[in-house]
Amino acid sequence: MIRILYATSEVFPLVKTGGLADVSASLPEALCRLGYDVHIILPGYPAAMEAARNESALCKARLQIGHHSVNLLQTRLPGTSVTLWLVDCPALFDRAGNPYQNSKGEDWWDNAQRFELFCRVAALMALGQADISWVPDIVHCNDWQTGLIPVFLEHQQNRPGTVFTIHNLAYQGLFPQEIFRALGLADSLWNMHELEFHGEMSFIKGGLVFGDRITTVSPGYAREIQTPAYGCGLDGLLRHRQDKLCGILNGIDTRLWNPEDDDCLECHYSIGQLKNKAYCKANLQQQLGLKPVKAPLLGFIGRMVEQKGLDWLVAVMPPLLERGCQFALLGSGDRRYEEPLKALALQWPEQVSLTLAYDEVLSHRITAGCDLFMMPSRFEPCGLNQMYSLRYGTLPVVHAVGGLRDTVFDYADEGPGKANGFCFKEATAASFLGAIERALDCRKKPKSWRRLQHNGMSGDYSWKHRAQSYGDLYLGIMAERAPGAN
Ligand code: ADP
Repeated sequence: MIRILYATSEVFPLVKTGGLADVSASLPEALCRLGYDVHIILPGYPAAMEAARNESALCKARLQIGHHSVNLLQTRLPGTSVTLWLVDCPALFDRAGNPYQNSKGEDWWDNAQRFELFCRVAALMALGQADISWVPDIVHCNDWQTGLIPVFLEHQQNRPGTVFTIHNLAYQGLFPQEIFRALGLADSLWNMHELEFHGEMSFIKGGLVFGDRITTVSPGYAREIQTPAYGCGLDGLLRHRQDKLCGILNGIDTRLWNPEDDDCLECHYSIGQLKNKAYCKANLQQQLGLKPVKAPLLGFIGRMVEQKGLDWLVAVMPPLLERGCQFALLGSGDRRYEEPLKALALQWPEQVSLTLAYDEVLSHRITAGCDLFMMPSRFEPCGLNQMYSLRYGTLPVVHAVGGLRDTVFDYADEGPGKANGFCFKEATAASFLGAIERALDCRKKPKSWRRLQHNGMSGDYSWKHRAQSYGDLYLGIMAERAPGAN
């Protein structure tokens, strides 16, 4: 059985700030179903440690990393049979707030030290030097927090193969040169072809330079990040490594996100029985204090950061609300978006609902209860919400970038057999508004609307084939690294 160590800084349901957590739970599970032996390694954050205590986790090894004592605890990812290793180091990980920031939204001052230690422990485990009998064939690293793992493994004898997945190239783990020195990394790594990036230390470059393979979460984003417009300064490096880079579209957990059987909903529906979707809408309107009318209900869920196009969302709302549309937003993040959103809610109190929080249950209800789902992202590596909404018969209106362009097919461009939503190409609020207006026109033609809903709901967003692509990648690396291979 092929053994995979999946290194991640978040995993649902233990700790989640975005899509990485969903993927870090659902991909390992899908790989296990395909017969791979996947173990996840995660920092021992408080919620994860709490779950481990409930599962009577076992301490399998004690390590001394610099002046930190670390326990490696073995447990299971709740609700699955996937083995989970927790890097228990209270001085670095036992903190309130999210994995990267304190409760004021400031980055933890020692993030470099925290994730360097995490990478060292994962690398020791990968080399069979952590006093644990299980040793992987492949280490699958995810985002900058794991970028030093391939660095630590690079010159080691009999090391496993490495895959580095980019979930979002905009987050690079950049730190001042003093930190590079303080971490005690080899001086030879300090050059522009390795860990230096314009005078700073870059964690993500560790993965991009030293990973045996680089993947990202959609074919569209894999192409885009090789261009200056989307490459965040790393497009040259990615072009240089293009023969090792590919895009594999993310899948979703189709059991957790299923309108026929969703614990978060009061009533369920299916492709052949859409009537109850209207009840989900009525329930949502009631829960959010929106007027119980048949007007189009537009939804947004996401991190409130520049990437997600919130300024375009705020700009297009007034004319739509003027026409009677309703708007439900669930998000948390940058405070600068709150004022303009609150102004909309003040002016149209029966039509606008803002939930400035993180709420898993409400995210399912908005996905089910809305008519249209808004994703005007400036860039989007893959995006999960458009796939969730497609599966729930809630038509997405998206900016045609990255994974959004790979999963949403426009009503105007595609034949009736494929179209499942609405896309806008120009990066402007006017272009976004144009797409919403086309969607509202389509809603007046119930037959076309149903057709789009049908196409969306019958799409295959599962991990089955997509996880197999990772499996093929692992096998390719192993064949390349096998003794005697050249
Ligand atoms: P990203 O990783 O850039 O945040 P994705 O679309 O890939 O974007 O994934 C976001 C995930 O986080 C989705 O599962 C989405 O439903 C969830 N999410 C984001 N913000 C919230 C929130 N405020 N409440 C509940 N879920 C949220």
